[in-house]
Amino acid sequence: MKTTISVIKADVGSLVGHHIVPAPLLEIAEGSLSRAVDEGLISSFKVFHAGDDLELLMVHDRGERSREIHALAWKTFQEATEKAKELKLYGAGQDMLKNAFSGNIRGMGPGVAEMEIEERESDPIIVFAADKTSPGAFNYPLFRIFADPMNTAGLVIDSAMLDGFKFEVLDSKLNKRVVLQCPEEMYKLIGLIGTVSRYSISRIWRATDDQLCTVTSTTKLSLLAGKYIGKDDPVAVVRAQHGLPAVGEILAPFLHTYFVEGWMRGSHWGPLMPVSLRDSKCTAFDGPPRMVALGFQICNGRIASDKNNIPMVADLFDDPAFDLARQEAVKMATVFRRMGEFQPARLSEESMEYTMLPEILKTLKDRFKPT
Ligand SMILES: [Mg+2]
Repeated sequence: MKTTISVIKADVGSLVGHHIVPAPLLEIAEGSLSRAVDEGLISSFKVFHAGDDLELLMVHDRGERSREIHALAWKTFQEATEKAKELKLYGAGQDMLKNAFSGNIRGMGPGVAEMEIEERESDPIIVFAADKTSPGAFNYPLFRIFADPMNTAGLVIDSAMLDGFKFEVLDSKLNKRVVLQCPEEMYKLIGLIGTVSRYSISRIWRATDDQLCTVTSTTKLSLLAGKYIGKDDPVAVVRAQHGLPAVGEILAPFLHTYFVEGWMRGSHWGPLMPVSLRDSKCTAFDGPPRMVALGFQICNGRIASDKNNIPMVADLFDDPAFDLARQEAVKMATVFRRMGEFQPARLSEESMEYTMLPEILKTLKDRFKPT
């Protein structure tokens, strides 16, 4: 039996600047996906938000890139956009780059991470969703989880993982992809994914049997729209246990903060802060960039649910074990903010290409004289 986990997200408007998705928008999404359950389109769902991004986690049996599922998400975001416009929320419809749905939501603005799986005896899944950052933000933790034996004990002591993992890396500039296998090609992999602005890990398979175990959203909004329209706030779906990294190994890289692109105006390096859903809201300098992690079990084609049919979802960063990372993030945030617009606090010139900065600098063009 095959089951598909689809996470489709968009920023369609938020309460007070780029802070949070307010209740009326979440209610619209809840209503829309509840109706889809009644109609038998999806089996279960969870609506949540990562800062100002509305996240639709849907479980169904229609496979990846299903026209019906993508249309459902598009319609839901459209309804939420209408509400956001009515309430004059900030950035209403921001990620809705196209007017009419064309069969596949990919390339239309919203971010998509989908994984079709053959259900195992027990199938623990973690969904990561970040705000104020970009797809490259997953490169570092995914490398640690699936390639670094200093993070993942299973790479050394679980025979199912001894052959390592295959990583699909996307080159967002040339729109090409390459698959590299670890440990054999580890140094080449790091060579690529260390450049987080250009390369991002899009899929990971277990090398022994090509079992798919991770997918991420890799949309580059700026490349779609040709200008800066907000960061691409990514999501990832990661499978755990039974010959894959354990849940604890998947969470271990977040014991410390690390730096990601994004933050204010998508133009700065900022420390990533793992947070609970309660703290999934960006404030200081529109940040620091934050990530939530939700865990659940797939059970007979649905999210395992309680007796009232409510999907049971664990808020994995709601834990004092991540306090140190949060404190580090606050500390590093203050260090970088003291630097204002001076590099390395601000992104490289190339990464600023889609902001208004090049336009502003153009006004000086005629004032430059030969030296
Ligand atoms: Mg966002």
